[in-house]
Amino acid sequence: MNDFEPGETHWREQASCRDHTDNLFFPVGETGAAVLEIARAKAVCRDCPVGLDCLYYAVTTGQRFGIWGGLDENERRQLRRRWVASQRSAPEVDLIGWLSRAS
Ligand code: SF4
Repeated sequence: MNDFEPGETHWREQASCRDHTDNLFFPVGETGAAVLEIARAKAVCRDCPVGLDCLYYAVTTGQRFGIWGGLDENERRQLRRRWVASQRSAPEVDLIGWLSRAS
């Protein structure tokens, strides 16, 4: 985990998925063959040394599709809702610290 500036992408050099040339991380749909693809992508994410950087990037840049930081779009949407709700009670908490505890 390095800098956390929105939009920075240097962490990708260490990404476990950097050699995946298929669309594993961008499955089409959520049923059928996509279920296995999503599980395979998340398995790669589990061992990724920059998973938190990736998740932070996805959340701060509003990535709508695909697997980022081990979470699919629905999981990131739920995470974002929890983050917004947490800001009502503890607005001083920074996003990266919150993500490291919540994800
Ligand atoms: S967390 Fe997953 S999607 Fe993100 S860089 Fe790592 S392997 Fe790739």
